[in-house]
Amino acid sequence: MVMRFWLFTIFVVIPVTVLPSRAADTLDLRDMAGWRIVVDDDASPAERYAADEFHDLFLKVTGHDLPTVREIGESDGNIFIGAGRALEYSSLDYTMKQDYAPEQLRVVVQKDNIAIVGGRPRGVLYGVYQFLEECLGVRFLTRDHVHVPRLESEDSGRLQEVDFTFTPPLTYRMLYYTEVMQDPKLSARLRMNATGPGMLAKFTDTQKARIGGYVTGYFLLHSIGSWMGDYDADSDPAIRALQKDGKRSPRQFCMSHPKVIRRVTANVALSALKHGKGATIRVVPEDAGRCECERCHGIADEYGGAHAAVVIKLVNDVARKVAMVRPDLTIGTLAYAWYRKPPENMPVESNVRIQYATYHACQRHPYDRLSCPTNVDTVHDIRTWRTLTDDLCFWHYSVNFNDYLAPPTNLDAVASQIRTSVALDGRGIMMQGPGSGLNCPFADMMMYLMARMMWDPGDSPTALREQFIDLHYGAAAPDIRRYLDLQRRTQRNGEGHSNCNGPFDEFGLSVELGRKGIEIFEQARAAAATQVERDRVEKASVGAYRLALGHLWYGKAPDDMSDTERRDARKIAGRLFELCRMHDVRENREGQPVRVAAQRLRKALDMKDGEAF
Ligand SMILES: [Zn+2]
Ligand SMILES: [Zn+2]
Repeated sequence: MVMRFWLFTIFVVIPVTVLPSRAADTLDLRDMAGWRIVVDDDASPAERYAADEFHDLFLKVTGHDLPTVREIGESDGNIFIGAGRALEYSSLDYTMKQDYAPEQLRVVVQKDNIAIVGGRPRGVLYGVYQFLEECLGVRFLTRDHVHVPRLESEDSGRLQEVDFTFTPPLTYRMLYYTEVMQDPKLSARLRMNATGPGMLAKFTDTQKARIGGYVTGYFLLHSIGSWMGDYDADSDPAIRALQKDGKRSPRQFCMSHPKVIRRVTANVALSALKHGKGATIRVVPEDAGRCECERCHGIADEYGGAHAAVVIKLVNDVARKVAMVRPDLTIGTLAYAWYRKPPENMPVESNVRIQYATYHACQRHPYDRLSCPTNVDTVHDIRTWRTLTDDLCFWHYSVNFNDYLAPPTNLDAVASQIRTSVALDGRGIMMQGPGSGLNCPFADMMMYLMARMMWDPGDSPTALREQFIDLHYGAAAPDIRRYLDLQRRTQRNGEGHSNCNGPFDEFGLSVELGRKGIEIFEQARAAAATQVERDRVEKASVGAYRLALGHLWYGKAPDDMSDTERRDARKIAGRLFELCRMHDVRENREGQPVRVAAQRLRKALDMKDGEAF
């Protein structure tokens, strides 16, 4: 198998995508002043936007303000953005003789013409970004930082002839971070093709069309309650889930109860008629505990003790019913919390999508390594789900719900998490960050890293991170790197396999790291060459100040805390809240503004309400 794979690779990849380097086959960017951008009359809004993005960034890199035209006057000197009549009559006409997948892109560079083509709706736009990055060295680092290299040496600024094609392996790529969700432009540049469900209505049709729209159907939120509607539960309390304390749950339903099955199935089937072509309907338990009734336990026992069997049984019923009236629709459900374990040998209908939520996974460690039994278990579950369904996607976490201001805990884990998802044929990833927050420590770096890895899991996470640090922090980069190396070493030596909802020390983070970090960030601040760099350093330093406060941050002061320690803590807290104000750091945990943390801290330090730190 291995040998066949390599033969295949050598045969296909080398001759087609990377031509040998020869001086005669290079194109000098400095000589392109007379070129033109060609866009067809029938170009889509996203293809026109792609041409605008190309024009603006090409101008910044090369200084050439190229005109955009729809017809070609010359047979060479054309940059074709998208297919069209002009391309059809050019030397690159062959790029139009195949169909492209919706996000597939193809970039052909020849000495006298360039074509950036691809599928609709987003292939061409993403092709432009790929060209700008790989051929010109542009980097879309954050919403307000696009790195644009300058043409300096003789060696830079030369393009080799190439015919490159790429199809992203994930159909759905979503960063649940406010910074990306609320900004279609940044989202497209990072090639994230989805936003939060609540955001969709906030953008105009024009905004959405420009970036080729958003993909939906892979963010499978809880929904059973809404399918039950205004059903009078009091008339039959047994439709509610039986809790361990013997009471009936106010939120969860017993999903094996015949009335629940009938009502959910009927209501979903009825609503199916109203959905657009190919839509996904969510049938997901509420975010509450499982049902402990005998019937639910009986079903779980039949399938290896996995309570997901109760959910899948209902979802399968719904899926069969919907398939009769709307075979194009998908029924989506979660594998999460008490229903994350796959039911043994239980068939899943082919029109069902399973979104595996890694809520219980260890945040600190890579996937599938001996050193982390928790994640070995997680991957085992995912693999088993994969044997039950072809339509698997993921809900991952890059957040500590308990502690938004602590530094990211998954520096060493996230790349393997994404790669594992892709290796197991996952179709999409919803990466939940501190979504309700803004400007959390190192969130910019994490967003960049995760977006790039989701787009192309073959990319190097180390190279991406190093490049981000160099370009974003400039003269302060060596100190920032020193801090991050120290954090990673500290975390590696720590204990614990906490999920996305634990105290800071369960991720290997420590108060000492925070104190040492403050020193390093002060040095970084002094090293910064500009105010912009200084601001970026300060924004990232919030995590170190937060860590230095240890458990005090959660409102627990040690019994033996001395006056000196109190004064010291007040000083650190004062600086922390000052930084939060300066850099618009909004939340301390999900739905909780930073000022609530300040109040809690005052209480722990025996301070008055509103007293200055
Ligand atoms: Zn039950
Ligand atoms: Zn672990």
